[in-house]
Amino acid sequence: MRLKNTVPLHSEETTASFVSRLAFANGVPTVADLLLDAEVTMAQFLKGERRAFEALEELSGVATDDLIQQAFILVEPHVYEIFGHRIGQQHLLRGESRICPACFRQDTRSQVASDAMVLSYGRALWAIASARVCPIHKLALVSAPEASVKHEFVDTWIPWMFEIAEGELDQTIDEGGMYEEHAALRLAGEMPEGWARHFPLGASQRHICH
Ligand SMILES: [Zn+2]
Repeated sequence: MRLKNTVPLHSEETTASFVSRLAFANGVPTVADLLLDAEVTMAQFLKGERRAFEALEELSGVATDDLIQQAFILVEPHVYEIFGHRIGQQHLLRGESRICPACFRQDTRSQVASDAMVLSYGRALWAIASARVCPIHKLALVSAPEASVKHEFVDTWIPWMFEIAEGELDQTIDEGGMYEEHAALRLAGEMPEGWARHFPLGASQRHICH
């Protein structure tokens, strides 16, 4: 059954972020509740079982294959695949949600109303542990000032909309961003020039950016 309100899956968004926004747009309290309504468990979703994504297609109208492509799919023990890249679990901040405050402001057009929260979305780059700065805005990727429920993008950030709008979470980073630019291109399916192209995406900056 198609939900009343749908949201777009953005090209660089994680499916986890998408599902969180989809739940929110329909007044469903959590991702787990949304999945339960579709008779899918959170565990099935987090492991990347196809059945979970088929159920999400029914709810949202977004194609199963697109949802799978942008989700962390467990492909072997401790290794996930997303956007066609295999990344070791130790290189991922799966479930923990970071943002670039400026990207967030751009998404929500700096509105602080909770309705605007659905406009903001989590980028796959932000889930890669070695990414530290937004390649567009040169701001540090930040976690919420207080811990929240894992895998709940909307719940994590809704309490901080005011602080984000006011720039209170901004930390300007003058140096760096090269790794992140590289990783963002790779996630977008491009093959940037340079020798770093041969490294697996999760490899740390220490190894790549010297
Ligand atoms: Zn940004």
